[in-house]
Amino acid sequence: ADDLPHVSESDPTAKALGYVEDASATKDPKHKAGDTCANCQFYSGGATGFGPCQLFPGKAVSAKGWCISHTVKQA
Ligand code: SF4
Repeated sequence: ADDLPHVSESDPTAKALGYVEDASATKDPKHKAGDTCANCQFYSGGATGFGPCQLFPGKAVSAKGWCISHTVKQA
């Protein structure tokens, strides 16, 4: 998964979902403190770096990123 191209914030899907590579940079009121791709159920990468997200097939999102589709991963 490390070799997947990173999702760009300017990608149309990324824009539609309000994706940011750094969750702390979002101004979206839907963002809750502590929510990042790393604790989202659609993410299957490691705790740091980049990894796959089901919403961005064939690409990798940042572990510390975020988008409006964030759903807390169930244990
Ligand atoms: Fe990150 Fe989850 Fe949004 Fe994918 S769905 S970009 S893992 S917050």
